[in-house]
Amino acid sequence: MRVEQNVNELEAMRQHEIMERLKVRLDKKKQELGRPLTYCSVCFGCQMNAKDSEKLEGILEKIGYERTESEEADFLIMNTCTVRENANLRVYGRLGQLKKYKKKNPDMMIALCGCMMQESLVVEKIKQSYRHVDIIFGTHNVFKLAELIENKLDNDGMIIDIWEGTTEIVEDLPSDRKYDFKCGVNIMYGCNNFCTYCIVPYVRGRERSRKPEDIIKEIKSLVADGVSEVMLLGQNVNSYGKNLEEPISFATLLQQVEQIEGLKRIRFMTSHPKDLSDELIEVMANSTKICKHLHLPMQSGSTKVLNDMNRRYTKEDYLKLVEKIKTAIPDISLTTDIIVGFPTETEEDFMDTIDVVKKVRFDSAFTFIYSKRTGTPAATMEFVASEEEIKDRFNRLLEEVQEIAKETCSKDEGKIMEVLVEGLDEQDESLLTGRLSNNILVHFPGEASLIGMYQNVKLKESKGFYYIGEMV
Ligand code: SF4
Repeated sequence: MRVEQNVNELEAMRQHEIMERLKVRLDKKKQELGRPLTYCSVCFGCQMNAKDSEKLEGILEKIGYERTESEEADFLIMNTCTVRENANLRVYGRLGQLKKYKKKNPDMMIALCGCMMQESLVVEKIKQSYRHVDIIFGTHNVFKLAELIENKLDNDGMIIDIWEGTTEIVEDLPSDRKYDFKCGVNIMYGCNNFCTYCIVPYVRGRERSRKPEDIIKEIKSLVADGVSEVMLLGQNVNSYGKNLEEPISFATLLQQVEQIEGLKRIRFMTSHPKDLSDELIEVMANSTKICKHLHLPMQSGSTKVLNDMNRRYTKEDYLKLVEKIKTAIPDISLTTDIIVGFPTETEEDFMDTIDVVKKVRFDSAFTFIYSKRTGTPAATMEFVASEEEIKDRFNRLLEEVQEIAKETCSKDEGKIMEVLVEGLDEQDESLLTGRLSNNILVHFPGEASLIGMYQNVKLKESKGFYYIGEMV
């Protein structure tokens, strides 16, 4: 471990040296052009990707680029997702559009990274059909962006740097976080679960946890910089710490994070039901900072389908776990992910899913129609239901979930509760949007100066998935 640590520290230093060198070079370019150099950062997918994009943007800002929302920029980076087929199609669509900008500004650089680039068929397609792309890299070497840009400035042709996997975790990179008052913090990377429908283990590699002292150090510096809420991120946070030289549990890490002065709220995602321990439930129940929200993907309610998905828990296990959680933390908000139309799913299996939804009564659920991902075991499975049947199930599930959520999300109507004010309401700028500890949103009249602050609000009226409130 000591040797590996040195390697990572040395690598971080090397990348910072390259950033310094590149900054001098780009400053010269700016003088020649008599204008700033701009970058546009496009991010698809999950919070892990969003966190990687903050690092990529941090590096681009460090070397002297300025952010623009226009894709007609000097440097455009697209951080891609491949969890469902349509994510790939969207990227190809956007790439076609970019060609015209490159014609107008031949010095424009286009870079692609993220999960989609870990698929060799995708890289081949881009090399063939999208030759205006300059740099392609993956999920394991986000920290190398500056070096790849330098390579591109010194070489013709497409720069491609895709790693199969890595054990490296390079710390201390610049990061340009989206919010001043809250921030995602990676605690681990990769996944070892190999659910049969999921492409993530193939594009994000094996699980590797950051050392607790690095996580604590990062959160302390975030708190010193004005952050009061952190979201601990991992594909499966419940298996945190297993590969560390001195393994510690996720629950123990949470207790250490809880000790950080000035930190007010702790959130985390994503949990896998098979690894959610009694220790974690107890730590959540006794905590004053861990938010009263747990995202617990169930995916299906049928034990047979769960087995075909390689989820390694049964319908009964999931229900028992939920019972334990609700008993220990009565005001917990539970949300979940559900896949409809898994190849082996029959109508009877689907009714098991509906049964669990009725029994658990989730505050909300992300519902998806199964999307075949080439290279996953499920991709070779035969469908037992027709597309129409699957669509019909999806609509029935959505109706059930929304019906229940309307009831469960309105249980606090009339109460006074604390929100973290996160911004202006996107639909009505005369209102602010605040987030309750249980992750439900409240819109209420108030000054923008309150953004980033904690405010007590009265929950006047429930609107299904959110409340209308007033400050008290
Ligand atoms: S736990 Fe399963 S669904 Fe989640 S990222 Fe890992 S393999 Fe994919």
